[in-house]
Amino acid sequence: MTAQILDGKELSKKIKENLKLEVDKLKENGITPKLAVIMVGDNSASAVYVKNKSNACKKVGIEFEEFLLPTETTEDELIKLIEKLNANSNIDGILLQSPVPHHININRAFETILPSKDVDGFNAVNVGNLTIGRDCFVSCTPYGVMRMLEEYNIDIAGKTAVVIGRSNIVGKPMLQCLLSKDATVTICHSKTKNLEEVVSKADIVIAAIGKPNFVTGNMIKEGAVVIDVGINRLEDGKLCGDVNYEEASSKASYITPVPGGVGPMTVAMLVENVVKAAKQRKQ
Ligand code: NAD
Repeated sequence: MTAQILDGKELSKKIKENLKLEVDKLKENGITPKLAVIMVGDNSASAVYVKNKSNACKKVGIEFEEFLLPTETTEDELIKLIEKLNANSNIDGILLQSPVPHHININRAFETILPSKDVDGFNAVNVGNLTIGRDCFVSCTPYGVMRMLEEYNIDIAGKTAVVIGRSNIVGKPMLQCLLSKDATVTICHSKTKNLEEVVSKADIVIAAIGKPNFVTGNMIKEGAVVIDVGINRLEDGKLCGDVNYEEASSKASYITPVPGGVGPMTVAMLVENVVKAAKQRKQ
């Protein structure tokens, strides 16, 4: 079997084109959606992600303001900036780019972002609402994965799904998203025993580990759907995912490439969340 590619690049383009029409309508009603992005300290990977987000916002007509704070910024200074942005009615979304320097408690910062402006879906209110099935801002990466599965008409209900990775931003919300669509979900992590055996039984495999080529072909069930969230930079500068693409694509029914899979979908879902926040401001 040769897997069909889940083309996140193409799909995200289509989603952003539709979002641009919605932004045009909002502007006709006097609302220009605006995203504020905060980055603390120098991090070359974060700078690339912020640039991608900024380009995507500008393409659909969303205003974008960057706050680049020095590494020495204190937690209180960061919190004060977030509070100022919370109070600014022209700003619909606030995004704090992770990682932040170790002396800052990132969870306290996420908690300070108003849930109605938390377009990354990291505030405990949004996380809680996702868990109990209420409308909320969903973390952009799992949200993008779900949108991709939906757009390609991939059945989730009743399927066995294995998520590898239990981070707050990918693994855990991914579990909730799949569960809400009636999958039977297992989470694997660094302490999981017999990981290969567990993964090899899954109809849907989501890899979010951060280790190049961690998921090999022998772990993939014939016909499984393979979603590679990982973004790893190799020594030669090339990007690669957490899945051995060559091996897995010969067994999977569908697979995401890296780059061009989950990454662009994450950015598109951020744009969608900002538009949603702006629409709520209108109401
Ligand atoms: P993280 O480091 O917070 O979490 C990694 C998870 O992998 C942990 O829960 C850990 O338990 C698990 N893990 C580590 N070693 C393992 C092992 N040997 N066996 C099983 N599980 C193991 O990472 P994260 O923020 O969730 O990101 C994961 C990957 O996804 C990274 O490569 C990151 O760059 C990428 N990422 C991509 C996007 C995107 O838009 N495509 C967004 C966020 C993160």
